[in-house]
Amino acid sequence: MHRILELYSGIGGMHCAWKESQLDGEIVLAIDINTVANEVYTYNFPETCLSNRNIQSLTAKEIEKLNVNSVLMSPPCQPFTRNGKYLDENDPRTNSFIYLIQLLSELNNIEYILMENVKGFERSTVRNLFIDSLKANGFSYQEFLLCPSKVGVPNSRLRYYCIARRSISGWHFKRKEEIITSLPHDYGLPNTLEDILQTDVQDMYLLNDKLLKRANVLDICYKHSRRSCCFTKAYTHYAEGTGSVYTEANEQQVEKCYKMANTFDVSSKHFIETLKELKLRFFTPCEVLRLMSFPQNYKFPSNVTTKQCYRLLGNSVNVKVISELLKILFD
Ligand code: SAH
Repeated sequence: MHRILELYSGIGGMHCAWKESQLDGEIVLAIDINTVANEVYTYNFPETCLSNRNIQSLTAKEIEKLNVNSVLMSPPCQPFTRNGKYLDENDPRTNSFIYLIQLLSELNNIEYILMENVKGFERSTVRNLFIDSLKANGFSYQEFLLCPSKVGVPNSRLRYYCIARRSISGWHFKRKEEIITSLPHDYGLPNTLEDILQTDVQDMYLLNDKLLKRANVLDICYKHSRRSCCFTKAYTHYAEGTGSVYTEANEQQVEKCYKMANTFDVSSKHFIETLKELKLRFFTPCEVLRLMSFPQNYKFPSNVTTKQCYRLLGNSVNVKVISELLKILFD
């Protein structure tokens, strides 16, 4: 029976992954400072103890008292994103993680660690600090760069993962020096989007004129698509690179409509009016949850706005990828 500390818990993607992995154990404590995320977490896991506080205020003694043997965490990724300034260890948002890295030498009960971050983390100074600390404290570790599309999920979200284990006697997994980019199991082709689509989606999800002006940079998905782009915090704010949009029309209709629209200037009324025919819409928060492999019964409370939902989802994790990694870590 494992006892788990979930740090930077957000909306509980790690918690969902733990449940999905069907391993024996419980989340003893979750910690996050985002009150909206915490509200969503508690709504879905009313029985789990969740603390709204800064991780930097945690002491080794407190953690020892919790009697946990595992830590699951996804520290802030903004310091390492390509869109950000890549301030690495100079970004104050890494302070709490650097604090934890230093605290590790005092956490004698911790046997298992899973850490998630963005692609780009692997070449950071903070990564080196983290790995050095794992080594110094007797952990064996494995780094991964994985995308949900490789585990049968029709969504891209290339992320860095590190799993680490203090005692490796009996660990079935054979670790490698290099970063692993695919899991041993064959997951087959991702399902089509049809499985996750909602019916009777409200008009509020249709793209507005401002975004339709940017129609030429949109990534469009169809019912039978087996892929979609990574959803980020800015989804629905910006058109480019923040996540895919959906249409009931088929490729031929889209191509024809775009051809027609592009005979007009993109800032003209005609361009936008022509494209409206396609009824391009955003994926709803519920659909995005499914693309991130959250369980069917996962819900947002009704007072959380749609914008807040997308922001929280953009920060969260793919549940399936993490549950597969947990199986490897605890094998
Ligand atoms: N895995 C989470 C998301 C992690 S995003 C999920 O599934 O949703 C990083 C989270 O860390 C954010 O929710 C942010 O509020 C939280 N966070 C950042 N710095 C923190 C700190 N110093 N103490 C506690 N929480 C922090």
